[in-house]
Amino acid sequence: MRGPQRIAIDGPAGSGKSTLGERLARRLGYLYVDTGAMYRALTWLALHEGMDIEEGPALEALALRAEISISRPQIADGRQYTVTVHGRDITWDIRSAAVTNAVSTVSAHPQVRTIMRKQQHEMARSGGVVMVGRDIGAVVLSDAELKIYLTASLEERARRRYTELEERMGVHNPALPSIEAVMHDIELRDSVDREHMQPARDAVIIETDHLSVEQVLDVIYQYVESRTL
Ligand code: C5P
Repeated sequence: MRGPQRIAIDGPAGSGKSTLGERLARRLGYLYVDTGAMYRALTWLALHEGMDIEEGPALEALALRAEISISRPQIADGRQYTVTVHGRDITWDIRSAAVTNAVSTVSAHPQVRTIMRKQQHEMARSGGVVMVGRDIGAVVLSDAELKIYLTASLEERARRRYTELEERMGVHNPALPSIEAVMHDIELRDSVDREHMQPARDAVIIETDHLSVEQVLDVIYQYVESRTL
């Protein structure tokens, strides 16, 4: 029996794609690739080097020379993977507000996308991969055997992101943003990301507002089984 070798999971911020992608990959014994982490790592490096994030050609050069690695987690601190840039562990730094606010601008440069997409395509070459992002089913793995597109209302996505931040930062952390601020950030990011956020024509669209992680996982798993030969 051979299941779909390349599974694309796309959707906007807070749609649950990282949680589900990781769980599905673990269940299938597949490699899990979060492409958002690649754009975030590049953004972190650009900010770290004090670059102008409006400068496409400079970011293209940076993307070409950046040694970004995403590997299985070596530390058990709730991380899904370990992200390093030139050997430095930046797994949590790429979740900072500074990176979150700049990442859509960096990702919007076509030169940057071309390089990232090529690397992502290469990572999925040997199969056995669950890749999550915005444009995976439509562009990066347009021939993926299974394409899932997750959606949820803005309110629900903000609520999920807020709960995640609360757990990570602590309820009493003065740096914890308000849920309204989280919603505003997601809305801004959605508007910039929209261009790269179209579901593939053959994607299965799952509306997750009233579903638990387990329930969505079950639905996806049924599609995996139905496409297992
Ligand atoms: O998935 P996450 O929210 O971590 O992604 C961060 C950002 O990276 C997105 O807001 C988007 O700008 C960019 N991105 C992208 N294409 C992808 C994955 C992420 O443009 N395939």
